[in-house]
Amino acid sequence: MEDYLGKLKSGDLKLHALEQVLAPDEAIQVRRRFIEELTGSSLQKVGSYTIAMDRVVKRNCENVVGAVQVPVGIAGPLLVHGEYAQGSFYLPLATTEGALVASVNRGCRAITNAGGATVRVLKDAMTRAPVFSTRDVAHARDVAAWADAHQDAIRGVAEATTSHGRFLGLSTAVVGTSVFVRLEFDTKDAMGMNMVTIASQKVAELIATSTGARVVALSGNFCTDKKPAAVNLIRGRGRSVSAGVALTEAQVRETFKAPGAALADVCYRKNLVGSAIAGSLGFNAHAANVIAALFIACGQDPAHVVEGSSCITTIEPSSEGWYCAVTLPALPVGTVGGGTGVDTQAECLSLLGVAGGGDPPGAHARKFAEIIAAAVLAGELSLIGAFAAQHLAQAHQDLGRG
Ligand code: NAP
Repeated sequence: MEDYLGKLKSGDLKLHALEQVLAPDEAIQVRRRFIEELTGSSLQKVGSYTIAMDRVVKRNCENVVGAVQVPVGIAGPLLVHGEYAQGSFYLPLATTEGALVASVNRGCRAITNAGGATVRVLKDAMTRAPVFSTRDVAHARDVAAWADAHQDAIRGVAEATTSHGRFLGLSTAVVGTSVFVRLEFDTKDAMGMNMVTIASQKVAELIATSTGARVVALSGNFCTDKKPAAVNLIRGRGRSVSAGVALTEAQVRETFKAPGAALADVCYRKNLVGSAIAGSLGFNAHAANVIAALFIACGQDPAHVVEGSSCITTIEPSSEGWYCAVTLPALPVGTVGGGTGVDTQAECLSLLGVAGGGDPPGAHARKFAEIIAAAVLAGELSLIGAFAAQHLAQAHQDLGRG
């Protein structure tokens, strides 16, 4: 230990190179000690972890000093009738927001008592959109037209980079001399950002050599990755999924202590009108809360909560009482790759029966997306119900300030 600390201090050894000379856990320990001594801060708790770091240091994180722990609460059972997810599920929610798990749990109870949520995947297409520079507007239009007309050639180079990914199609946008080619892929059980980026590199090279356009950036923001964007809301990104449940007036009143019309009024004035006047891209009560908690527990890229939050929640009168639904146009999720193999996150995926690759490939990721949509519906119902019954502040006071 002292030896390596000395080398780090003298600059003979770089902080990021510790794994080249030490086993992962030893490297992490030395790095932590070095940072602790340098800053005078204790990282004792950060240094106490259960996850196996061999994989983490190779695939998930650089310059590792330990891990933070986020409490995981369980909500459920949640009865789901999807095409992939069928049955009752217990949701692992990683959060420090008091009242969130209890609130989702209440929504799960309402849905399960009503016979379950129906869920469908509407579209499944992860996107990457390289941006090209062209000579002038005429050249720009020719480049876009070439990409449109040569999708078989594009499929050939794209699919040569992956044994799982499938090219689905493309759309183009021209702005002055800039050309954006938004490529769509079926990424099976992977969330797919690495997969489609590797494929897009080959596609971009083909377009550039065939048209004389210059590749400016492999991601031209028309994808759109990790930024709020109307293109994702309208055309979808990752898994697009919708969940709905029919509740009788008696079921609404029993669970939420408010009439259905009050929930519908909150949904209309808050989620729809309020979001419209705010210029929001999310027309929901708190979809991001549930998505973030499930993403953190299940090893998803938490930055994709941005896309996930563009959810539209609706409550409308039906012959049975009230039909409540959420539609999530852009839910980038996967059950292989990324953070899904970290031990604790893999356990949470296993709890939902979706760890690893599905049979057929893609079945696990779609099942996971369906469960998330049903969970978001539970969260939406519960919070809207709390507003309708004027219970929100009280619940947070009781559960978040204990
Ligand atoms: P990944 O960690 O690169 O692993 C995905 C690979 O797993 C696939 O390419 C596939 O290999 C293989 N695979 C094995 N079984 C599979 C199955 N049943 N279905 C699908 N693939 C299977 O993961 P990724 O999902 O492509 O990317 C996720 C990571 O990208 C996350 O860590 C995220 O944070 C990061 N990320 C990257 C970017 C970027 O621009 N690169 C942007 C945002 C996020 P084959 O392709 O060989 O078949």
